[in-house]
Amino acid sequence: MTHKPMEQRPALLVSACLLGVRCNHRGEASRSQSVLNLASAFRLVPICPETAGGLPTPRPAAELCDDGSVHTAAGQDVTISYRQGAAAALSLARAVGARRAVLKARSPSCGCHQVYDGTFSRTLVDREGVTAAELRRAGLEVISEDDL
Ligand code: SF4
Repeated sequence: MTHKPMEQRPALLVSACLLGVRCNHRGEASRSQSVLNLASAFRLVPICPETAGGLPTPRPAAELCDDGSVHTAAGQDVTISYRQGAAAALSLARAVGARRAVLKARSPSCGCHQVYDGTFSRTLVDREGVTAAELRRAGLEVISEDDL
């Protein structure tokens, strides 16, 4: 198969952990070969919104609540960092001209179909993560790695 030169491939924003970056809250990656295979057709542009928003790695797990706030299990409000990370992801998308994103499923930042409900009881609800929602509102097509 002939691949287009890198500069001719459309940019695709991708959750960095899906590309093998150990940036999740446990300091681990969620490497996805299906996502890596997209490099033949797209210029993959990694972003980890939580670290871009200033959070350390590892960091306490956090969940997105009904009211749009994000809290850790210990009750720390980390909403501002999540929103800053979403803004950074959108800025990057615009800078590279990305019109699509493939994001990690079920993350309070990157989840684009479901997230955990804020009760730390492993209960999923139909809700977008903070960054997924920001990108979609800005007009990007946002899918998860489960959609590939
Ligand atoms: Fe992966 Fe997104 Fe969580 Fe970063 S914020 S570790 S990119 S799911």
